[in-house]
Amino acid sequence: MTRASVPCRTLVPMVTETPPTTLVMPAREHILDRSPEALRALLEGWGEPGYRADQLSRAVFAHGATEFASIPGLPAALRARLEERFRIAPPEVLARVTSEDGATTKVLLDLGGGAAVEAVRMAYDPEDASSAGRARVTLCVSTQVGCAMGCTFCATGQQGFTRNLTTSEILAQVLHFVREADGDPSRRVTNVVFMGMGEPLANYAHTLEAVRWLVDERGLHLRQRGITISTVGLRSGIRRLVAEGLQVNLTISLHAPDDELRRELIPAAAGTTIDELVESAREYIAATGRRVTFAYALLDGVNDGEEQARRLASRVRGLQAHVNLIPYNPTAGEGLRRPTRERVRAFLRTLQSLGVNATVRIERGAAIAAACGQLRTDVERERASANAPRTSPRGEGFPEASARGFA
Ligand code: SF4
Repeated sequence: MTRASVPCRTLVPMVTETPPTTLVMPAREHILDRSPEALRALLEGWGEPGYRADQLSRAVFAHGATEFASIPGLPAALRARLEERFRIAPPEVLARVTSEDGATTKVLLDLGGGAAVEAVRMAYDPEDASSAGRARVTLCVSTQVGCAMGCTFCATGQQGFTRNLTTSEILAQVLHFVREADGDPSRRVTNVVFMGMGEPLANYAHTLEAVRWLVDERGLHLRQRGITISTVGLRSGIRRLVAEGLQVNLTISLHAPDDELRRELIPAAAGTTIDELVESAREYIAATGRRVTFAYALLDGVNDGEEQARRLASRVRGLQAHVNLIPYNPTAGEGLRRPTRERVRAFLRTLQSLGVNATVRIERGAAIAAACGQLRTDVERERASANAPRTSPRGEGFPEASARGFA
C-alpha cells in the first residue's frame, strides 16, 4: 500500500485522554517600562484619578517600594489589579564588592535567564576633579548585557553582546542604590553616568527613556547636568541626542590620536574617523552649549607617548572640550599594561602645555570601579570553577574562598 492510498483519518492518532495542560502565565511588565505619561494614561483608563500614577512612581523612586502591598493609600482593588499585570520587584544581587575606603561599591544584578549587569556607586564624581570634598554620589550604570563594540582593552567587550536592557532594568541599577541610601541625604544620588557595560547609544530608546525618568519630577528628579552619556562614537546616536534638546553631558571615547590605532583598539569604530567625531562634538556643543568630554584610556607603550599627546592636542584644541585621561586598569587586553605615574603625568603636561583642558580621572577604589565587566567575568569564572570536578580538597579545580568578598 502506498502512502497516498491510506485514508487521512488513519494517520490521526486516537486521543484517549486529555493531555495535561500547562498554564503559561505572561511575564508581568515593570511599571517603569512605561513613561510617566503612559502610566498616567493607563491608570486613568482604569478610572483612577490622575494623581495615582504619581503616587506609584513616587513610592518607587522616593521611598524605594519593591512591592505594591507596601505602598500606603492604594485602594485594595487597584492594588490587586496592579499585582496581576505589573511588578516593581528589584533584581537579586549576585555579588557586591566595596573598596577599602568605602567610597566605591560595585554590584552585579541578576536579570534572569543567565543575564547579569554591573552597576557602581562612587561617593564622588570621577569625571570632575573639582568635585573633591563636595557631596557627590555618582552611579555608573549599564545599558546592555555585554557589548558588541569589542574594545580590545575592555572585559565587557570581550564577553560579546547578549541583549539590550529594558528601561526598567537600567533604572533598577539606580534604584538599588537609592534604596541602599535609605533616605540619608549624604548618600543621595546626585549624578548618573551611562558608562557601565554596553554602548548606551546602541540602546538608544531605552537609554533615553531611563534618562527621562531620572530627570522627571515624577521620577528621581535629578539635574539634567548630573547625567552623562558616554559613547564610543555612534554619530547617528549623537545626532538624535542633539535633537532631544536635553542638557545632559556627552562623553566621546577617543582612546587614540589617529584613526589607524583607534580602529585597532575599537574595532566597531572602523567606519568613523576622529575628524567626524570632532565634528559631532562641535554639533553637540553648538546645540546644547555644554562642554563635551573626550575619554582617553592610557595604555602603556600603545597610545601614551609624547608625540601621541601632541597629535591628540592638535585634534581637539580650540573646542569647548575636556580630555579625561583614564590610566588603564588591566582587565581583558592581552599584553596591555597601565602606564607609570610619570608617563601619565607627562602625557597630561603635554596636553595642558598645548592649551588643552585635560585631567586624569579620579581613581578612588579604582581596582573595582574602573574594571567594567570584570565582576561579571569573575563571578562567571567562580561559578564555572564551582561546577568543575574537584580533584583534591585544595588541588586543581577546587575553588578557593573569594578574597574579594563576593556575596
Ligand atoms: S569600552 Fe564600552 S563600548 Fe567598548 S566594549 Fe567596553 S562597554 Fe563596549
